[in-house]
Amino acid sequence: MDVTAIFGSMVFNDAVMKQRLSKSTYSDLIKCIEEDKSLTMSIASEVAAAMKDWAIEHGCTHFCHWFQPMTGVTAEKHDAFISPAKGGGVITEFSGKELIKGEPDASSFPSGGLRATFEARGYTAWDPTSYAFIKDATLCIPTAFCSYGGQALDKKTPLLRSMQAIDLQARRVLRLFGKNVAKVTATVGPEQEYFLIDQNVYAGRKDLIYTGRTLIGAPPPKGQEMEDHYFGVIKTRVSEFMKDLDTELWKLGIYAKTKHNEVAPAQHELAPVFTSANIATDHNQLTMEVMKKTAARHGMVCLLHEKPFKGVNGSGKHDNWSLSTDSGENLLDPGSTPEDNAQFLLFLSAVIKAVDEYQDLLRTAVASAGNDHRLGAGEAPPAIVSIFLGEELDGILRAIAEDRPYSKRAGCEVEVGVKVLPHFPKDTTDRNRTSPFAFTGNKFEFRMLGSNASIAGPNIILNTIVSESLSQFCERLESADDFISEVTAIIKDTVINHGRIIFNGNNYSDKWLVEAKKRGLHNLASTPEALPHFKDERNIEVFEKHRVFTREEVITRTEIMLDNYCKSVHIEALTLAEMLKQDIMPAVSSYIGAFAKSACDAKKLIQDIDLTVQQEQLSTLNKLYADAYRGTQELDNAIKSTEKIVELEAKALSYRNKVIVAMEQVREATDKLESIVGSKFWPVPTYGDILFSVK
Ligand code: ADP
Ligand code: MG
Repeated sequence: MDVTAIFGSMVFNDAVMKQRLSKSTYSDLIKCIEEDKSLTMSIASEVAAAMKDWAIEHGCTHFCHWFQPMTGVTAEKHDAFISPAKGGGVITEFSGKELIKGEPDASSFPSGGLRATFEARGYTAWDPTSYAFIKDATLCIPTAFCSYGGQALDKKTPLLRSMQAIDLQARRVLRLFGKNVAKVTATVGPEQEYFLIDQNVYAGRKDLIYTGRTLIGAPPPKGQEMEDHYFGVIKTRVSEFMKDLDTELWKLGIYAKTKHNEVAPAQHELAPVFTSANIATDHNQLTMEVMKKTAARHGMVCLLHEKPFKGVNGSGKHDNWSLSTDSGENLLDPGSTPEDNAQFLLFLSAVIKAVDEYQDLLRTAVASAGNDHRLGAGEAPPAIVSIFLGEELDGILRAIAEDRPYSKRAGCEVEVGVKVLPHFPKDTTDRNRTSPFAFTGNKFEFRMLGSNASIAGPNIILNTIVSESLSQFCERLESADDFISEVTAIIKDTVINHGRIIFNGNNYSDKWLVEAKKRGLHNLASTPEALPHFKDERNIEVFEKHRVFTREEVITRTEIMLDNYCKSVHIEALTLAEMLKQDIMPAVSSYIGAFAKSACDAKKLIQDIDLTVQQEQLSTLNKLYADAYRGTQELDNAIKSTEKIVELEAKALSYRNKVIVAMEQVREATDKLESIVGSKFWPVPTYGDILFSVK
């Protein structure tokens, strides 16, 4: 296969634009993309006409404004290119106006009350910084989704705003270093984990179908303990899926690069090459969609839930994040000259300060019903946000803070902006995989994200909070007498005031929980505890200051997220109750009946037969049946009482503390039953059946 020939073949990318647009329109469009200049209608019209011709040549009949509402998945409304012509015929048409703006009937997307019901319309606006592409014979135009009042109803709008904020502040810092760069871009490379299971076992599990995860299931005899799956040989069927997936992603211009098996059976990972945060977000949404579709073509189902199986590692997403100038300088790459080092340490300090000051915001960015099962469960970082720097960098920063030489490596004296610091090699301890937020040589890796999440949220927050640190640094630097000594002072202050956020040890250990508490770090264990912090006054202020969210947007978003949490748990609870009543309990009852009958039959045959063990077994089954029955009743009651609560925060807490607790309790009895009820009687595929379903 010629990768270069198929790569981007379904994308209206730079090469296509160059070829199909007039020179002046092309250069205006590039200016608009690179410098955030607005577009005139005449440019839009020419671009639209070229896009339409290109799309029709590639077999398209429709176009759509592709956007990312608050549901976390993408939305699209397809319109045909046709327009009625005289004599009953049609002509194909696609105007500049249609390219720039769409008006989907938006009343059914979550808005948290932002879009009053009398004004149900929202509009989508073309985002020219992300290329249009073809999917299912439809020209898809990446768009932002706003209300008529201009409030963001989606994830792209605030992401673009946050990228503008960080561009502004980072350039402000760079100017102080004498560098006049045209643009600084937040760059992101998201690693995506997923499970692949056979369609047949999936079809047998209502819980997977309705909720994406299993709500019951006893541990299989073989799980991940042999550690034979991680980086193991990829099964033929999976490998065929992966090849197909790569091809589809490449056609869409997605830099799918690394693929391998993950820790759990049936678990895999895909990592793309990093790109701008905006494009990375679009591409990650597309990647998840293409994964599901490709799996279906191979008779499999791709599970993107954060925790599909209890007792088996769940799936996460690692958000690798850095800042890059338009000339390609990575601002988190330690330089080799004293000036570059000072600049690097300043940007590093900005991240440290931001993460410490806004731990709670970062925590909210990864809060979801599904992710609650992963964080802190010994397979993913705990709910406590901390930074891993590695011993070397940590040592250097602390030496600066304490005005002493850094002695670990010969010839290495640290004095910001004067002595040459070593070009820090990727730290050997960088294999610490337990940290939620790790510096990995030239970028930070935010590892708390669940596999399902849109990466927009975490990157909106990262960009915003780092912008805030940078703007505070700029204020100090702009009024400083001596630039380099102020840089040094800022680094020192950061280590002194925010050093508590740095932790290089094992984040999975219980000791860390105790230590983090001593350090006064947030430990927001669950989603209902974390989410309300999104609208804490200081968080609203930082969003407003950098024009990422208005107060109203923050408040409504908090509501949408809490509501989403409640709905997710509600659906899970109803699904579990239904499975128990309609499938599990009847199956157990049949088994008990069959078991009792065979004992009675034996008794008929041999009157003095010893049936002690049968009686024992029968009473165990009966006791567990009773536990499951009562547990189901309690679950029903918990659902009912929670449904009645009106206030969202209290409702979410009740889902966490009552409904989920009831779900866990009834599961205990059910899983025990699964391990003793005859397999022919058990009505759903077991963990073993599911995890080893792809041969
Ligand atoms: P690991 O498995 O060790 O975490 P991978 O190589 O699988 O690492 O993934 C690293 C990810 O980080 C890739 O998506 C890569 O493109 C991305 N990355 C590398 N450099 C940067 C950068 N400067 N900004 C953002 N992401 C980056
Ligand atoms: Mg990683």
